[in-house]
Amino acid sequence: MALQEGQLQLFVQPQVDMMGRVVSVEALVRWQHPLNGMIDPTEFIPVAEDTGLVVPLGDWMLEQTCQLLNDPRMQQGGYRVSVNVSALQFQQAGFVRKLQELIQRTGVDASRLTLEVTESLLLQEVEQTIQKMVSLRALGVHFALDDFGTGYSSLAYLMRLPIQEIKLDQTFIHDLTPQSHGAVLVEALLMVAKGRALRVVAEGVEHKAQAQLLQAWEPGILCQGYLFSRPLPASEWLQAPDLSGPQALRTW
Ligand code: C2E
Ligand code: MG
Ligand code: MG
Repeated sequence: MALQEGQLQLFVQPQVDMMGRVVSVEALVRWQHPLNGMIDPTEFIPVAEDTGLVVPLGDWMLEQTCQLLNDPRMQQGGYRVSVNVSALQFQQAGFVRKLQELIQRTGVDASRLTLEVTESLLLQEVEQTIQKMVSLRALGVHFALDDFGTGYSSLAYLMRLPIQEIKLDQTFIHDLTPQSHGAVLVEALLMVAKGRALRVVAEGVEHKAQAQLLQAWEPGILCQGYLFSRPLPASEWLQAPDLSGPQALRTW
């Protein structure tokens, strides 16, 4: 298995504010296959979900994320880290205890850790899910609702979750122009977020015009996308976390 054979790698992608400063990163898994090269998670996460392997994979990512948070360069920059948690992983009976132990063992400041969840969490018993999130909030961790706007749940239902952040899905960002239908929707979602005092991250920002439009609507928005940086090996990003290094695209 890839995990036992040390073939998984921790990549990160920066999230920047309107001044172009890196505020946080999202941790993304990569599989360095000995024969097939680097494999993206879109190819293997669905299989890992079906086989249950997403649970040990997610544990590994949480461990890596805490180690990253403990890097002195991370602490110096005050960066936060977000990590994806699959519904299956979240629903494990021992998830809260496991995370609590990890936080204690690594000594990380849990308030700099964000767990990215999707609305697939709501397919299970909702009250129980909310209870679990509340227990995790008590440890200090934040919650982000990933791929926001792509699912089937009603907004009222989603807003029952004790989240601190929403991540606007890239499908809304791709053809974003001031006149597009998507623009009306994004503006409405930003108003919802404002009303709830939620942090907003826009995913898949590839063009300067998209970033400018989003920032004009919501100056506090964070942008994540190829415009600023592709996902990089965490060790590489740590060499120049402010994106001033040679790996930075610097096109904005
Ligand atoms: P996600 O959490 O929504 O992550 C964002 C995805 O968008 C990443 O794909 C990222 O590389 C990609 N992306 C970022 N900026 C741009 C852009 O400007 N344009 C375009 N076209 N794409 C952009 P990635 O790394 O392939 O991950 C895909 C999905 O796999 C993630 O979507 C997440 O759902 C899942 N995933 C990744 N790592 C993990 C993990 O450690 N655990 C779990 N359970 N799922 C993971
Ligand atoms: Mg994510
Ligand atoms: Mg997403």
